Amino acid sequence: MSMGLIYHDAYLRHEHTPTHPERRERLQYTMDQLREEGVLDDPAVNRLDPSEVTDEQIGRVHTDEYVDRLRSMSATGSGRLSADTHVSEHTWATAKLAAGGVLRGLEAVKSGEVESAFVMSRPGGHHAFADDGHGFCYLNNSAVAIRHLQATTDVDRVLIWDWDAHHGDGTQSIFFDDPSVLVMSTHQDGRTLFPGTGRVDEVGSGAGEGYNVNVPLPPKTTDEAYMEVVSEVFEPVAEQFDPDMVFVEAGQDNHFTDPITDLGVTAQGYVELMASAVDVADRLAGGDIVASLAGGYGIEGGLPYTNLAVIATLLDYETAYIREPAIYEPPVENPDVSDVIERVVDTHSDYWEFP
Ligand SMILES: [Zn+2]
Repeated sequence: MSMGLIYHDAYLRHEHTPTHPERRERLQYTMDQLREEGVLDDPAVNRLDPSEVTDEQIGRVHTDEYVDRLRSMSATGSGRLSADTHVSEHTWATAKLAAGGVLRGLEAVKSGEVESAFVMSRPGGHHAFADDGHGFCYLNNSAVAIRHLQATTDVDRVLIWDWDAHHGDGTQSIFFDDPSVLVMSTHQDGRTLFPGTGRVDEVGSGAGEGYNVNVPLPPKTTDEAYMEVVSEVFEPVAEQFDPDMVFVEAGQDNHFTDPITDLGVTAQGYVELMASAVDVADRLAGGDIVASLAGGYGIEGGLPYTNLAVIATLLDYETAYIREPAIYEPPVENPDVSDVIERVVDTHSDYWEFP
């Protein structure tokens, strides 16, 4: 199994404030963990360099007005898109390199250079809209990359599974009326977490109606409940959609140690989630799959372990050894998600068949 690993030290340049949850140590600690585990020495791991996305590539998704605003804010060296989303002198270039990382991953998998790819970039992208950003996001990395792939290759249908704990409001909005990109989101219920959107009845509009599937989960939701969502919603819908490419917006903030969310997934749970995404890609998309780091703020908690879980699964390693960070007790509560699943199935039975 060959996997592309897209990473660049320049991803460390962008910074909000030194104590902001989305800080450079997120990537540094994970790279240390991968080095310690010997992953970086594995010949199956191909280090791939990203390039910054171009104005033309950005322009397929974002408005000129927003691009000008972001670029000039970054040029002055300071500014904010929202209370917690800071713009510094390196933000513009780093955001373009992050989107370029996803693009590099998609192209490498599509061309057969590697079988799969993991993009370890920052800043993230799924809270970025066509004309604005917030939630630590500036450019919508996955949308820019997917639009480029659709414009330049024969890839038409892309399945996005956004499993970040926060609903990907920007990604939903960009693809809301587009039936070629199915956005499936599992996230902590918006009544309990930023950004508040991601209700079951947000199903898409126009030609895209039915192609936006939201599964808002209660706080403390565990591995077991996530796997129920996978078998009862994710797998049947993915099968009927029949994607050419599977893209995972890999938010690692569902881990029970995450300091800014309240879910109950373990590192072993991440192995299971990733294995189901890989299985869907193998069965439906010729094995073409790219995962890209989204959130995940347990820098000294679960983040390096969940990233390792995802990467080890892509590489088809033995994963039983992947453990939870020491000193933390895994969750014992197991909230019932059958009513959420029932609402999703009811709402989407106009568009999809369910077992
Ligand atoms: Zn998140």
